[in-house]
This record gives sequence, C-alpha cells and structure tokens, in this order.
Amino acid sequence: MATIDRVSGARHEVSNQALPLEDYNPFSSDRVLREAVSREGGDFAVERIERVGASAGSAEAIRWGFEAEEHRPTLTTHDRFGNRIDEVRFHPAYHDLMRLHVSNGTHASPWREPEPGSHVSRAAAFMCVSAADAGTGCPVSMTYSAIPALRTQPEIAAEWEPRFTSLEYDPRMIPAAEKTGAMCGMAMTEKQGGSDVRANTTAAVPLNGGGPGAEYELTGHKWFCSAPMCDAFLVLAQTDAGPSCFFMPRFTPDGERNRLHLQRLKDKLGNHSNASSEVEFDRAWAQLLGEEGRGVATIIEMVNHTRLDCVLGSTAGIRFGLAQAIWHAMHRSAFGKRLIDQPLMRNVLADLAIESEAATISAIWLARQFDEAHAGEHAAAARRRLATPVLKYWICKRAPSHAVECLECLGGNGYVEESPMPRLFRESPLQSIWEGSGNVQALDVLRAMVKSPDAVEAFFAEVGAASGEDRRLDAFAEATRRELTELEGIEARARRMVERMALALQASLLLRFGDQAVADAFCATRLDGDWGYAFGTLPAAADLGAIIDRHAPAR
Ligand SMILES: Cc1cc2nc3c(=O)[nH]c(=O)nc-3n(C[C@H](O)[C@H](O)[C@H](O)COP(=O)(O)OP(=O)(O)OC[C@H]3O[C@@H](n4cnc5c(N)ncnc54)[C@H](O)[C@@H]3O)c2cc1C
Repeated sequence: MATIDRVSGARHEVSNQALPLEDYNPFSSDRVLREAVSREGGDFAVERIERVGASAGSAEAIRWGFEAEEHRPTLTTHDRFGNRIDEVRFHPAYHDLMRLHVSNGTHASPWREPEPGSHVSRAAAFMCVSAADAGTGCPVSMTYSAIPALRTQPEIAAEWEPRFTSLEYDPRMIPAAEKTGAMCGMAMTEKQGGSDVRANTTAAVPLNGGGPGAEYELTGHKWFCSAPMCDAFLVLAQTDAGPSCFFMPRFTPDGERNRLHLQRLKDKLGNHSNASSEVEFDRAWAQLLGEEGRGVATIIEMVNHTRLDCVLGSTAGIRFGLAQAIWHAMHRSAFGKRLIDQPLMRNVLADLAIESEAATISAIWLARQFDEAHAGEHAAAARRRLATPVLKYWICKRAPSHAVECLECLGGNGYVEESPMPRLFRESPLQSIWEGSGNVQALDVLRAMVKSPDAVEAFFAEVGAASGEDRRLDAFAEATRRELTELEGIEARARRMVERMALALQASLLLRFGDQAVADAFCATRLDGDWGYAFGTLPAAADLGAIIDRHAPAR
C-alpha cells in the first residue's frame, strides 16, 4: 500500500510485510493437532473443535486478546460509602474471551459429557482458545480441575457442579444460586510457603463440631489467588489434624459477602488479562472437603488436572509461536529470497517445528490418559501418574526458549508490542512456575517412583512400545532406565532424569504416530546428540522441507 504524507509530500511505500495471521483456524488448518485428536479418541468432537478453532482464530478474538492484555483488570476494594466490596473490574474483551471459553465448554465438557475422548477433545478446544489469550485459561482451567476434588464431598458437588459446568458465563458479583453459571478458583500459596504447602498457617476453626462437609471459619492470608472474582475457591488451611481442603464461596449461605478481602492485585511479568491477587480471610465461611488433615490428598485431585492444563497451555504457546514464525517467513523476503527459502532459516523453523510436534503429540496423548483413567483403566492411571509431572516439567521448560526463537524469526517486528510475540514471551515462563515449579515436578517423579512402582513400569512400557523402531531410542531408553536404578545422589540428578524420560516418551510417540522426517530428526538431535545449543542446528541430513510443510499454517 502506498501513502503520501500530505505535509512533506514524502512517499511511504509499505511492502514486504506479512499480513497478520488471523481469520485462520488453528485446529482445522493444523495437521499435527488434527491427527493427534483423532488418534487419541477425540474424533467424535472434530466438528465442534473446528467451530471453536474458527472462533478463536478470528480477527475479532485475536483483537480481544490484545485488548484484554492492554487493559488490565483493576481492583475496587470499597464502594464510595466505605463498604468493602472486593470487586475486580475487567475490560469487555476479557468477558468476551471468557464467554468464548465457557460457551464451548473448555471449563467443563468432560464432566458434562463423560464419553471416551472427552478430555482429549476438550484439550484441543482449550488449546485453540489459549492461542487468542492465555490469561483466561487460568479460571477456565481451575473450574475444570476443581470438579474431581469437589466430588470428594457429594452433597457440595450436587449443589455446585451444575453451576460450574453451565455453558453460560455469568460475571455478575451476586450469590451463585442466582446466577446462570459459576467459576471456581484455588488458594493454596502463602507468603512463607508455596511449594511447601504444609507450611501454611491459615487456620480453620469448626463452627459446629467439624467433619466432612461441615462449616468452618478460616483466618489467614494467601499470597497468590488468581481469578479472585470466581464464585468459590478451594482453599488449604490448617486444622488440628493438619492441612485440610475447604470449599469457600464468595457469598455465605445467607447471601452476605463472605469475609475474604482482596488486598491488592499482583503486578506480573505477563498473564496480564488474568487478575492475580493477595487475599485476607477474616473468619471467612467455608466447608470442609473430605477429612481433616487430608487436604493435600484432596486438592491434588484438582492439581493433577491443572498440571495437565499447564502442559496444554505451554504446548498451545509453542504451537502459536511456530505458526507466527512460519507465517512471517512465508511472507517476508531478504537478500532476494523469501525467508522460508533461506537454508539457515529453514533449519531454525524445522527445529522449532520438531519441538512443537513432540509437544503436541505428547500433550494430547496425556489428555487421553486422563480419559482412560477416569474410565477406571488402571494402566492409564499408572501412565498418567508419572507422565504428568514428566511432561509438565519438560514442555513448560521448553516454552520460553522456543518463544524467544520464534520471536526472533519476526526480526524487529517480533519485539514490538503490536505483534503478539512479546505477550507470548512474557507468558512463556509462567506455566513452569505455577502448579508446582520445575524442581517440584522433578521431585514428584522421584516420589512416584518410590510410592508407585507400577507407574514406572507403565511409563517404560509406553516408551518400549516403539522398541525396535529406532536404535537410538532403544539405547537411550535403556540408559535412562539404568540411571533410574542408581539411587546415589538421585535427588540432585532428578532434573536430568526427568528430562531424559520426557525425551524418551516423546521419541516413542513420534516414532509410532508422528511424521517420519520429524521423528528421525528428533532422535538424531535430542537423543543422539547431533545438535547444537540453540534451535536451528539440525544436522544436514534432516528433511527440512518436509518438516516445515507439515507445520505451515494455512488461512
Ligand atoms: C501468576 C501467578 C499466579 C498464581 N496463582 C495462584 C493461585 O491462584 N493459587 C495459588 O495457590 N497459587 C498461585 N500461584 C502460586 C504458585 O503456585 C507458586 O508461586 C508456586 O507453587 C511456587 O511457590 P513459591 O512461589 O512459594 O516458591 P517456593 O516454593 O519458595 O519455590 C522457589 C523455588 O524453589 C524450588 N524448590 C522448592 N522446593 C524445593 C526443593 N525441595 N528442592 C529443590 N527446589 C525446591 C521451586 O521449584 C522454585 O523454583 C501463582 C503464581 C503466579 C506466578
């Protein structure tokens, strides 16, 4: 497009710039994701996911993502008369994004329709919307994840589950019984202890003798409580028997605002559309979920699912960054050739694509383990036990370096806020921190190895399903298994072990279900060491063209 400056008369040509990647469908235009969803049991929902993808990739939804990022939520602690109201106000774009999620059931579909493949199809839909905005994924994920923990107390679940699984998004700050739908949050972390939740000091006092489902008053402080406008929260607090899990609604049963007071909102590196708060409980009303002293075991039911969503969220970011990078390279020329035709850029893009395919295939495979575990399959529950922390550790760890490299593919444009890349970059470390940081995941793998030896067997049986397909995986898997048996200094080696387990699992899945060129290059680089230290260092034999073509986004 050519424009003429009216004052100076200077001519300003705009050429060789990529068009924005919008009005595209992140599901139907994506072979790798589509194949994974079909393979892992989500075929029945393909049309539905396509509809979600079309909405999430629309220019309108992409604009919502920018607006919700730019206009951060604000906290109003008091009304003009001095009454506490503790309300968070959002830009309309945030509500539009929430509506997009909730109306498509990304917060609840497996509980509404618990058929085979429902966690898989929900995973794909969640990933599509996460590409438009990651922040809204937080309350959506917590609501989805709260249900298994809530079911510990059937009478509370009977009252609240229909609200949490409603497809109506209702942001009004009124008692949940008067609303058409509700959302659920979680408050565990305190100043003195996040990973170490047993250090929590928030105290719970029974009102009428206590016990499962009984009423308590909670007093204390939570250092992180995201999505504080949710209608209820799962909260950890101490009873005489130790950490216990509570269900705390925003309004008490008599319709009064509960005494949970938002102190301030966090000023975060990224995740700007999502409000994260510090909150004070001043004898706040709550009900006990499960037994006193069994709080960690109860809330872990929720945390397992939010960890799955960390894997999905990081994978969504990896896939989004790759699509932006390839798209830009397809439309930008330098030194007389399109970037996508420059040999060195092809190496960078192909290497990023390999990481994306490995993440996608393993994330959707993991969602299937949730489907099968919920259906009562013991082997799937055993695979899930180890694969969840292994993949949470690894895929979340890969996200920031992947985002940086994708950003660089756009050159200077990638560093400018008008592009989506700075947002992707700021978001990228978060999934690794919350729901158990990297070291905590690695230590959880060690814990599972001690407490659930069947999980180790199930994990390596899955890796071994590709046995004989590639000698590099066979050797790598055997050496990894050997490392696991050397207990000397195992805690200090935990990251290294978990990294190797993740690579072995991803290689096995790629060899069986992925593209041959991708699987071959993955094994050569990630397992056999024929690789550099940055992306873009694939060996000469890698089939760069085939790998990139498979991942190129289409409008
Ligand atoms: C944006 C955002 C939103 C959040 N929202 C919520 C929320 O809604 N609800 C909620 O409850 N929490 C929330 N959190 C808190 C989050 O879950 C914690 O920050 C996280 O679990 C880590 O806890 P911590 O910050 O206390 O760090 P620490 O527990 O002090 O950990 C610091 C570092 O030490 C490492 N570490 C800990 N223990 C060990 C060990 N034994 N060996 C080796 N290394 C170790 C950790 O891996 C980490 O790298 C949120 C955090 C962020 C950033």
